[in-house]
Amino acid sequence: MKALFESPAKDGVKSICLQRSCTKCCQDTEMPLSDLDISRIEKLGFRNFSVVKRNGHRCLRNSSGRCVFHDGLRCTIYFGRPEGCRFYPAVLDLDRKQVTLDKHCPNRSLFRLTPQISRGVIRLVHRLESEKKRTQVTVV
Ligand code: SF4
Repeated sequence: MKALFESPAKDGVKSICLQRSCTKCCQDTEMPLSDLDISRIEKLGFRNFSVVKRNGHRCLRNSSGRCVFHDGLRCTIYFGRPEGCRFYPAVLDLDRKQVTLDKHCPNRSLFRLTPQISRGVIRLVHRLESEKKRTQVTVV
């Protein structure tokens, strides 16, 4: 997933992923994590769930080819999942600089992209970029 990132669908519709047993977006995930995501997941008692990518983003770690929080059937932290997971399949297409539904999502036609969702994705991407810079400064 080249692009960066509440789901375009409400949770009732998001269950389409569950109904169709689709786990594609949780396989080999590169989902970036915001400060809020990390703090929320740590409060759930988890550690060692992220990696820092070459682009500086802290992302979900994979295990056995899928997100460390996916047990093969479902997301084990669904109600605490990262913001990007909630927006998905709405993503920012970095080449076209616009929010779109990820072409890699086989069920994207079932999701609706609204202006509110697009704004939310853009705000999240800006926040992630700003947090990345802050983290880099802290590391140096
Ligand atoms: S946190 Fe949950 S929804 Fe997000 S990639 Fe991992 S298993 Fe999938």
